[in-house]
Amino acid sequence: MGALQYVDVPGYAALLLRRTYADLSLPGALMERASGWLKPTPARWSGETKTWLFPSGATLTFGYLEAEGDKFRYQSAEFQDIGFDELTQFSDTQYTYLFSRLRRPTMPCVRCGQPLEMTLKDGLWIHVGEEEHQPEPDMIILREYPKSKERNLSIFQVPLRMRSGTNPGGFGAEWVKNRFIPDDFLPEHATQPRVWEKDAAIENEETKETEIVHTFFVPSRKDDNPYADKTTYEKSLSKLGYVERQQLGKGDWSITATGRMRFDPEAIGKFEPVTGTDGELFMEEEPNGRLVPMFRPRRNGILTIWKRPERGHLYVIGADTAQGRDVNRGEGTAKGDFSVDQVRDADTGEQVARLRARISERAHAEQLNMLARWYNLAFVVPEIAGGYGTAMLDHLILDLLYPIGRFN
Ligand SMILES: [Zn+2]
Repeated sequence: MGALQYVDVPGYAALLLRRTYADLSLPGALMERASGWLKPTPARWSGETKTWLFPSGATLTFGYLEAEGDKFRYQSAEFQDIGFDELTQFSDTQYTYLFSRLRRPTMPCVRCGQPLEMTLKDGLWIHVGEEEHQPEPDMIILREYPKSKERNLSIFQVPLRMRSGTNPGGFGAEWVKNRFIPDDFLPEHATQPRVWEKDAAIENEETKETEIVHTFFVPSRKDDNPYADKTTYEKSLSKLGYVERQQLGKGDWSITATGRMRFDPEAIGKFEPVTGTDGELFMEEEPNGRLVPMFRPRRNGILTIWKRPERGHLYVIGADTAQGRDVNRGEGTAKGDFSVDQVRDADTGEQVARLRARISERAHAEQLNMLARWYNLAFVVPEIAGGYGTAMLDHLILDLLYPIGRFN
């Protein structure tokens, strides 16, 4: 169960939700399964708060949101990991409200009062915004949240995660489908181990404005769950109607009717995304006057890196320029497509970085120029289908003098 991944970190809190208390507490349901795993450990159970307390001070809480107003029971709580089991039984407003509870303790810089955050990889403090001076974290807060003894990990490094499991069908199937299931997803795709991504247009409850939400969807089938009793499961499926058989047996989201749902933490665990470091590149002048790209970590930066450039490695960048509109310069709306550059290590095929931004073709060329130079003068493979990308490429080669034909 992914929620248990950071229980050695002081201050860590995880929440697992079902729609009703009965769903949580029935034999074989989440609470009983957790109990089976945790009883032999030093963790202690509180029946009153439905919380496991770990020796580090970390907690795992089981909750339910039966009535719409139940969500406000969590209004003063903070969690770093929230899991919805059988998501289509919940309303979209219950789900989105819980995002406001997904947070870490705040750490101000005692010198300037601006918020600080810790880099995931190196555990260094940086300002969230731009500040020139050395960050000075608040020692009182730091003492309150020491690093874990086992892994030297701080709560400030724990990723914030909202993950859900569900079957198709159920009364919330429509909003779950709109948010997570790409339009071109078909049930037969579920046999491929693949993470599907979607830019879903979601209307904001308060502002009534449409926002683009980037979501990940991992299909899984009954065969992916090594713990499911397949014979019994298939037997019980055969008793259901056609619609439910398609939903539960094949993961078919295109069919709707009511259905029962199943949580598959094992399948989700297989696709644990590795958290990268967000930031941006900028050009810095060396003493000899040469301009070299440098990386600066920054929350919500357009560049995510998993591995920095390594000496002697050859990298390949797939560059996809979207319809060139720059939202920041008042061109078009926030609904424009993203330009995306994927950086891979040419030997291992491993993805080491991704740039993703709604920017003009010229701005994309500037970013790609820095990115490709930083990754050892990477081999750039531009996509120019559909007419977009040629202006980007011209700017990259003719103005920025990127040696795109150098590769041999
Ligand atoms: Zn400061």
